[in-house]
Amino acid sequence: MDIKAKPASKWFLPRVRYTQEFVSQVHSPQDILGAFRETGAYLEGHFRLTSGLHSPNYLQCAKVLQYPAIAGRFGDDLAARLRQLVGGAAIHAVVSPAMGGLIIGHEVARALGCRHIFTERDAGAMTLRRGFAIEAGENTVVIEDVITTGGSSVEVIELLRRLGAQVVAAGSIIDRSGGRADIGVPRVALETLHVVTYEPQSCPLCAQGSPVVKPGSRPGA
Ligand SMILES: [Zn+2]
Repeated sequence: MDIKAKPASKWFLPRVRYTQEFVSQVHSPQDILGAFRETGAYLEGHFRLTSGLHSPNYLQCAKVLQYPAIAGRFGDDLAARLRQLVGGAAIHAVVSPAMGGLIIGHEVARALGCRHIFTERDAGAMTLRRGFAIEAGENTVVIEDVITTGGSSVEVIELLRRLGAQVVAAGSIIDRSGGRADIGVPRVALETLHVVTYEPQSCPLCAQGSPVVKPGSRPGA
């Protein structure tokens, strides 16, 4: 395998060639952010987030997950931590909220050897569509790409409990809450971040005259 990543913006690091050697180097959890940086998924600069707040960092999980070998490695690592967390309990299904949880949920399920289904919103309510079903008593884990407040995971957990399933654990690649998000079940993340944000009127980057950028607004970004 030899995939060339295209530089996506001026923040993107020098072109990297994707080789099995590189993928094997991102095996250790401490290299998670390294993989994000190398693939242009972790940007440093001055960004306007969807919330309107400004931040010196921006994460775009889809950009690191575009490499299936890296997604698979993350899935293996999360599955290993989940197995430790549940102490040998059987896991019958991984459940993810669409869209963000789809790829990583699939890879975690592959590593656990169970099925993967996803929830979607129907008139705002988290729901199972497409004929997906959970049987009462099944053990499930909820997987997202990034947890910020944990709100989406909590909605999935509530849905699964209404359907009679047990939610034995949850996980994400990145925890942006600094470890503070409490979703009511044991939880793991491959990397925990303390994300810095500023109100625009008190943003020190704005005060320095640095132009603010909305990620994804540039062609190819
Ligand atoms: Zn600013």
